[in-house]
Amino acid sequence: MTSRAYVGLGANLGADLGATLTQAALHLAALPGTQVSALSSLWRSAPVDAEGPDFVNAVVALDTGLAPLPLLDALQAIELAHGRERPYRHAPRTLDLDLLLYDDAVLDTPRLTLPHPRLGERAFVLRPLLEIAPGLIGLASGAAWQTQRIERLGPLSL
Ligand code: ATP
Ligand code: CA
Ligand code: CA
Repeated sequence: MTSRAYVGLGANLGADLGATLTQAALHLAALPGTQVSALSSLWRSAPVDAEGPDFVNAVVALDTGLAPLPLLDALQAIELAHGRERPYRHAPRTLDLDLLLYDDAVLDTPRLTLPHPRLGERAFVLRPLLEIAPGLIGLASGAAWQTQRIERLGPLSL
Protein backbone atom coordinates (compact mmCIF):
# COMPACT_ATOMS: atom_id res chain seq x y z
CA MET A 1 0.00 0.00 0.00
CA THR A 2 1.71 3.19 -1.13
CA SER A 3 0.85 6.84 -0.82
CA ARG A 4 1.15 9.63 -3.37
CA ALA A 5 3.36 12.50 -2.26
CA TYR A 6 4.27 15.66 -4.14
CA VAL A 7 7.64 17.23 -3.33
CA GLY A 8 8.58 20.78 -4.33
CA LEU A 9 12.25 21.28 -5.20
CA GLY A 10 13.99 24.65 -5.29
CA ALA A 11 17.54 26.03 -5.38
CA ASN A 12 19.07 29.48 -5.82
CA LEU A 13 22.65 29.02 -4.61
CA GLY A 14 25.21 27.04 -6.59
CA ALA A 15 26.88 26.77 -9.98
CA ASP A 16 24.38 24.53 -11.80
CA LEU A 17 20.93 24.67 -10.24
CA GLY A 18 19.39 22.29 -12.78
CA ALA A 19 22.03 19.69 -11.94
CA THR A 20 21.28 20.14 -8.23
CA LEU A 21 17.60 19.42 -8.84
CA THR A 22 18.43 16.40 -11.00
CA GLN A 23 20.66 15.04 -8.22
CA ALA A 24 17.93 15.66 -5.66
CA ALA A 25 15.35 13.84 -7.80
CA LEU A 26 17.75 10.89 -8.07
CA HIS A 27 18.05 10.89 -4.27
CA LEU A 28 14.25 10.83 -4.02
CA ALA A 29 14.06 7.91 -6.45
CA ALA A 30 16.54 6.00 -4.26
CA LEU A 31 14.53 6.33 -1.03
CA PRO A 32 13.36 3.01 0.43
CA GLY A 33 9.97 1.83 -0.79
CA THR A 34 9.72 4.83 -3.09
CA GLN A 35 9.30 5.36 -6.81
CA VAL A 36 9.23 8.57 -8.82
CA SER A 37 5.96 8.49 -10.74
CA ALA A 38 6.16 11.90 -12.45
CA LEU A 39 8.58 14.78 -12.97
CA SER A 40 7.64 18.33 -13.86
CA SER A 41 9.75 20.54 -16.08
CA LEU A 42 12.47 22.76 -14.67
CA TRP A 43 11.23 26.33 -14.14
CA ARG A 44 13.09 29.55 -13.40
CA SER A 45 11.34 31.88 -10.94
CA ALA A 46 11.88 35.19 -9.18
CA PRO A 47 12.31 34.79 -5.41
CA VAL A 48 8.97 34.76 -3.54
CA ASP A 49 9.14 34.54 0.27
CA ALA A 50 12.92 34.22 -0.20
CA GLU A 51 16.00 36.27 -1.01
CA GLY A 52 18.85 36.21 -3.50
CA PRO A 53 19.14 35.19 -7.15
CA ASP A 54 16.42 33.57 -9.25
CA PHE A 55 15.42 30.03 -8.31
CA VAL A 56 15.18 26.90 -10.36
CA ASN A 57 12.13 24.87 -9.29
CA ALA A 58 10.44 21.57 -10.05
CA VAL A 59 7.89 19.20 -8.53
CA VAL A 60 8.27 15.43 -8.27
CA ALA A 61 5.44 12.95 -7.63
CA LEU A 62 6.37 9.97 -5.47
CA ASP A 63 4.65 6.68 -4.78
CA THR A 64 6.01 5.85 -1.36
CA GLY A 65 5.60 3.51 1.55
CA LEU A 66 7.22 6.08 3.85
CA ALA A 67 4.90 7.80 6.32
CA PRO A 68 4.84 11.62 6.27
CA LEU A 69 7.34 12.26 9.07
CA PRO A 70 9.94 9.72 7.90
CA LEU A 71 9.56 11.21 4.43
CA LEU A 72 10.19 14.72 5.84
CA ASP A 73 13.25 13.33 7.66
CA ALA A 74 14.50 11.95 4.35
CA LEU A 75 13.89 15.27 2.55
CA GLN A 76 15.86 17.14 5.21
CA ALA A 77 18.71 14.62 5.01
CA ILE A 78 18.90 15.19 1.25
CA GLU A 79 18.93 18.97 1.83
CA LEU A 80 21.83 18.57 4.26
CA ALA A 81 23.72 16.37 1.81
CA HIS A 82 23.49 19.31 -0.61
CA GLY A 83 24.97 21.70 1.94
CA ARG A 84 21.71 23.32 3.05
CA GLU A 85 22.20 25.83 5.83
CA ARG A 86 19.57 27.96 7.55
CA PRO A 87 21.43 31.11 8.65
CA TYR A 88 18.15 33.06 8.75
CA ARG A 89 14.58 32.73 7.52
CA HIS A 90 14.19 33.08 3.73
CA ALA A 91 17.97 32.90 3.18
CA PRO A 92 19.21 31.77 -0.25
CA ARG A 93 19.54 28.01 -0.33
CA THR A 94 21.47 25.30 -2.13
CA LEU A 95 18.41 23.04 -1.97
CA ASP A 96 14.91 23.27 -0.49
CA LEU A 97 12.61 20.24 -0.49
CA ASP A 98 9.05 20.88 0.68
CA LEU A 99 6.43 18.19 1.17
CA LEU A 100 3.52 19.79 -0.68
CA LEU A 101 0.87 17.09 -0.44
CA TYR A 102 0.64 13.60 0.99
CA ASP A 103 -2.48 11.77 -0.17
CA ASP A 104 -5.36 13.71 1.35
CA ALA A 105 -3.53 14.17 4.65
CA VAL A 106 -4.31 17.28 6.69
CA LEU A 107 -1.81 17.86 9.47
CA ASP A 108 -0.76 20.80 11.61
CA THR A 109 2.18 19.96 13.86
CA PRO A 110 5.32 21.95 14.70
CA ARG A 111 7.43 19.93 12.28
CA LEU A 112 4.97 19.26 9.50
CA THR A 113 1.95 21.02 8.05
CA LEU A 114 0.00 19.37 5.24
CA PRO A 115 -0.91 20.47 2.68
CA HIS A 116 2.06 22.86 2.59
CA PRO A 117 0.47 26.09 3.87
CA ARG A 118 1.76 28.45 1.15
CA LEU A 119 1.28 26.09 -1.76
CA GLY A 120 -1.68 27.95 -3.30
CA GLU A 121 0.08 31.34 -3.35
CA ARG A 122 3.20 30.38 -5.29
CA ALA A 123 3.59 30.17 -9.04
CA PHE A 124 6.88 28.28 -8.57
CA VAL A 125 4.91 25.49 -6.88
CA LEU A 126 1.66 25.61 -8.83
CA ARG A 127 3.04 25.78 -12.37
CA PRO A 128 5.16 22.60 -12.05
CA LEU A 129 2.57 20.85 -9.86
CA LEU A 130 -0.23 21.42 -12.37
CA GLU A 131 1.96 20.09 -15.19
CA ILE A 132 2.00 16.67 -13.56
CA ALA A 133 -1.32 16.82 -11.64
CA PRO A 134 -3.79 18.97 -13.62
CA GLY A 135 -6.63 17.55 -11.52
CA LEU A 136 -5.34 19.64 -8.60
CA ILE A 137 -6.34 22.89 -10.35
CA GLY A 138 -8.66 23.64 -7.41
CA LEU A 139 -5.56 24.44 -5.34
CA ALA A 140 -4.79 27.36 -7.69
CA SER A 141 -7.90 29.42 -7.01
CA GLY A 142 -5.96 32.37 -5.53
CA ALA A 143 -4.85 35.34 -7.60
CA ALA A 144 -1.40 36.22 -6.18
CA TRP A 145 0.56 33.57 -8.06
CA GLN A 146 -0.73 34.62 -11.48
CA THR A 147 1.49 37.73 -11.60
CA GLN A 148 4.71 36.14 -10.31
CA ARG A 149 7.57 35.91 -12.81
CA ILE A 150 8.28 32.35 -13.91
CA GLU A 151 9.47 30.68 -17.12
CA ARG A 152 9.84 27.10 -18.25
CA LEU A 153 13.48 26.11 -18.81
CA GLY A 154 13.15 22.58 -20.18
CA PRO A 155 12.68 19.00 -19.04
CA LEU A 156 13.93 17.52 -15.79
CA SER A 157 15.27 14.12 -16.75
CA LEU A 158 16.88 11.48 -14.58
P1 ATP B 1 8.38 27.81 3.34
O1 ATP B 1 7.84 26.78 4.29
O2 ATP B 1 7.63 29.11 3.36
O3 ATP B 1 8.53 27.28 1.93
P2 ATP B 1 11.19 27.39 3.82
O4 ATP B 1 11.05 26.23 2.89
O5 ATP B 1 12.26 28.37 3.53
O6 ATP B 1 9.81 28.21 3.90
P3 ATP B 1 12.48 25.89 5.84
O7 ATP B 1 13.50 26.65 6.59
O8 ATP B 1 12.97 25.00 4.72
O9 ATP B 1 11.38 26.89 5.30
O10 ATP B 1 11.64 24.95 6.80
C1 ATP B 1 11.24 25.35 8.09
C2 ATP B 1 10.49 24.21 8.76
O11 ATP B 1 9.23 23.98 8.14
C3 ATP B 1 11.16 22.87 8.71
O12 ATP B 1 12.03 22.70 9.80
C4 ATP B 1 10.00 21.86 8.76
O13 ATP B 1 9.94 21.14 9.96
C5 ATP B 1 8.78 22.73 8.65
N1 ATP B 1 7.69 22.23 7.79
C6 ATP B 1 6.37 22.27 8.13
N2 ATP B 1 5.61 21.76 7.17
C7 ATP B 1 6.45 21.39 6.16
C8 ATP B 1 6.23 20.80 4.88
N3 ATP B 1 4.99 20.49 4.43
N4 ATP B 1 7.32 20.56 4.11
C9 ATP B 1 8.57 20.87 4.55
N5 ATP B 1 8.84 21.43 5.76
C10 ATP B 1 7.78 21.70 6.56
CA1 CA C 1 10.10 26.22 0.79
CA1 CA D 1 11.53 24.02 3.20
